Amino acid sequence: MENEMVKDAISKLKEANIRITPQRYAVLEYLVEYHTHPTADEIYRALESRFPNMSVATVYNNLRMLTELGLVQEMKYGDASSRFDFSTHRHYHAICQNCGKIADFHYPSLDDVEIAAGRLTGFDIQDHRLEVYGICPECQEKM
Ligand code: ZN
Ligand code: MN
Repeated sequence: MENEMVKDAISKLKEANIRITPQRYAVLEYLVEYHTHPTADEIYRALESRFPNMSVATVYNNLRMLTELGLVQEMKYGDASSRFDFSTHRHYHAICQNCGKIADFHYPSLDDVEIAAGRLTGFDIQDHRLEVYGICPECQEKM
């Protein structure tokens, strides 16, 4: 399953005539394998031992490129570092207010919100985003 996701992403890169460098592959693989919504810095730290010549800017550039191709979603939180999510399906996030952990959840019936919002505002709705906040199961146990 994870391998398939990496393979699909690689073929999209090839279609877009983007060279698959080992670093690029590693960034992609990391995002698919550790679905923790990492920051660029976290990815950099996880890969720096494998790629001693890689800079954090390289990681950023790769993430930017993957985002532009629509393979990765950038999650911006005001002044805090962006988090990156390998996602091909729409989903939502539950964010732990204690440890910052982010869990994915799917809730397809929320697509109706776009129709309702369009009707209520006259907007041609393109997208929506939802985050819920609370305490994750691990933190609940520790409390
Ligand atoms: Zn937590
Ligand atoms: Mn996610």
